[in-house]
Amino acid sequence: MQSIFVSKFPFSKNAAEYLQNLDIDIRTLPTYFPNLFKEAFNRLLNLMENKKLPEKIDISLNSPEALIYAIMRVFVELINEDFLRNWFAEAYSKRTENLLHSESPKTLITLASTTFDWKIYNEIQIAGRTYNWKLRFDNFLEVAPNLMAKDWKLVNQHLNKGWVLLVREKLIRLIAEKTKLYILNRKIPRDEIPNLPESYTPYLNALQSKINSIKKNFRSQRIFSDEINKNAYPPCIQFILKKTEKGENLAHPERLFLTFFLLNIGTSIEDILNIFKTQPDYNEEITRYQVEFAAGKRGSGTKYTSFGCPKLISYGLCKKELDEMNWCITGKVFKKVLKNPLQYYSGKIFLLSLKQENKSK
Ligand code: SF4
Repeated sequence: MQSIFVSKFPFSKNAAEYLQNLDIDIRTLPTYFPNLFKEAFNRLLNLMENKKLPEKIDISLNSPEALIYAIMRVFVELINEDFLRNWFAEAYSKRTENLLHSESPKTLITLASTTFDWKIYNEIQIAGRTYNWKLRFDNFLEVAPNLMAKDWKLVNQHLNKGWVLLVREKLIRLIAEKTKLYILNRKIPRDEIPNLPESYTPYLNALQSKINSIKKNFRSQRIFSDEINKNAYPPCIQFILKKTEKGENLAHPERLFLTFFLLNIGTSIEDILNIFKTQPDYNEEITRYQVEFAAGKRGSGTKYTSFGCPKLISYGLCKKELDEMNWCITGKVFKKVLKNPLQYYSGKIFLLSLKQENKSK
C-alpha cells in the first residue's frame, strides 16, 4: 500500500513518513542522487513551459517519485515565486485527480483521512437509498467555496446529520482541490532550508533565469500598462487580476466574469489571452475559442455583458471591503445605484480623466 502513496501521491503523509525514514540530507542530494536531482530540475523547467508533470509514473517498489517531489519543493521554495508555487501545486492536484479515478475506495479513504484528517465513508444507506460517499460538512467547506459554481454550494448538497452525501466524481474533485491547498499551505520556512552546497548553484541559476524571462514576458504583455485603466478597475476585478499575476487557478465564474468585463471595456482578445497565460491549465486553443465565443465572434454571435453586482455577491466574488472609493460600500456611484462593475469602471474613468485634465492645465 505504501508504494502507491510514495509513487502516485508524493505529497501525502505516507510519502512524507517514507522520506523521513530514509533520513536524507538535502545538501547531499546532487552528489548521491544526481539523476533524480536532474530529473527534478528538468520537471520544473518543463512545468514552467507547459504547466504539466510527465504522465508516466514509476510505480515500482523503489519509486523515486517522492524524492523527486521533495527536491522540486526545495527548488520551488528557494525560487520563492507565487506563480511557480501555484503551478506546482496545481500540477500535482491535476495529476492526483486523474489518478484517483482508477484507484480503489480504500486508497481514496486512506489519502483523505491520513493526509487531510478528513472524516469520510463510502457505500452508505440512508432512507433506503445508497450513496457512494459521505464526508463531514466542515471538511467539505474547507474546499468547496473555492470551486464557486452553484452545484458546490452547501445549500445545494444532500445533507444528513452533518454529513455531505457525494458521488465518487465529486469526492475526487474535492480531494484534488484539497491537494492543491495542502501543498500551498506547506511552505518550507526559509530558516529550515540549510545553506546549500555549490553544486546547487548552476541549477538554481538556470531556473531563476527562466523565471526572469517568464516575468519579463508577462510584464511586456500586460494590459495594465495603461495606468488609467488599471486604477479604474473595481475591487472585484483587481482581486481576480492579482490572482492571475500570482498564477493562481481561477474558478470558472471568475474566468467568465474577468473575460466578460474586459471585453466590455474594449480589451482586445489578444490582451485577454495574455492575462490567462499565467493560468496553470492554460491552453491557447481552448482559451481563444472561449474568449472569442464570449466576444460574439463564434457560436450564436451573442456578446455577453459583465455579471452584475448581485450575481457577483452570490458567487462570493464581490470585494466591496477593498474599495477605497466607498462606492461599493454605499452601493452608489454619483448618486446612481451601483448595479454592475462596469458602472464603477466608467465612474472612475471619468474621475481620473478629470484629474489628468486638471494636471495638464
Ligand atoms: S459592489 Fe459590485 S463593483 Fe463593487 S466589488 Fe462588489 S461586485 Fe464589484
